[in-house]
Amino acid sequence: MTVFRSGFVAVVGRPNVGKSTLVNAMVGTKVTITSPRPNTTRSQVRGVLNLPDAQVVFVDTPGLHKPRTALGERMNESATASLDDVDVVVAMVEATGAVGPGDRMVLAQSARRVRSMARAAALGHGRDAGDDAQTGDPTLLVVVNKIDRVGGDGVLTHLTAVADVIRVLDEGDGELPIPVEYFPVSATSGEGVAGLVDAVVARLPEGPRYYPEGMVTDVAEAFWVADLVREELLHRVQDELPHSIACRVSEWEWPRVRCEILVERDSQKGIVIGKGGTTLKEVGIAVRKQMPPGAYLELFVRVEKRWQHREDALDRLGF
Ligand code: GDP
Ligand code: MG
Repeated sequence: MTVFRSGFVAVVGRPNVGKSTLVNAMVGTKVTITSPRPNTTRSQVRGVLNLPDAQVVFVDTPGLHKPRTALGERMNESATASLDDVDVVVAMVEATGAVGPGDRMVLAQSARRVRSMARAAALGHGRDAGDDAQTGDPTLLVVVNKIDRVGGDGVLTHLTAVADVIRVLDEGDGELPIPVEYFPVSATSGEGVAGLVDAVVARLPEGPRYYPEGMVTDVAEAFWVADLVREELLHRVQDELPHSIACRVSEWEWPRVRCEILVERDSQKGIVIGKGGTTLKEVGIAVRKQMPPGAYLELFVRVEKRWQHREDALDRLGF
């Protein structure tokens, strides 16, 4: 008899390695916004993959990075906390460029979490205690993403560099090496993604369906629309703006939805609106296409000075 497996899977990595793109690819539906800018994902987003004999809840996290603002700090806390309650940890790096300090921090935190899972399992405290024969030892799944951008040699070099980092971590901790599996993937082309999903499912404990079958995300619709507005804006504005933008749905009276776009300075307001209102208009059209038919979306731009640094503003925005 086949067992039904389910559980939570954290996808962690430094900003921009492709976490949200990978979660969307694994779930098969867009559940989380992506962009070429770092720090696009600001809070945890769950994407649910329903299979005949498993339900996988992927937790997309903000990238771990060195925080410079109160917002950055909250994002880091959220990413670190997401590791606490999961069954599988997917640590992600990208094949382009070298393995940097940010990647080492991600790998160290993930390895630490997997080690403590292994310890709990050994003591019989794991969620899957007694089920070890089926799920095996806790394993760190390392994804090397964006392999479409480097040749086979580049992928190999990168894998070796990551393995070296993990070996040093193991030695530093003075304990038995944790099991690690490597997955070269391209989240955009889909190469390697199916194999990764299989490995994730195999690592899940036996468990119930946590979410109804038709549900692919737990993000409330209002947050989702606000995020879509931000995503479309990020694709259209210059480099200095992204961190200054926050979006919030302030009224939801279907089909009328009102979304506020906060910026930090007057000059930014003009950029968001665009010449003759073109940018804002384009954003509205692009977002409406992704909403249920009939939506009437109103966009407003408001200046809220230094919102990223103010705890009261962050509370109001729901961070
Ligand atoms: P996150 O910050 O880790 O969530 O990264 P995103 O998912 O937002 O992706 C950051 C950027 O990398 C976006 O422009 C993606 O389109 C791009 N990207 C993600 N995965 C891949 C990949 O496998 N190959 C390539 N070439 N680009 C990718
Ligand atoms: Mg993201």
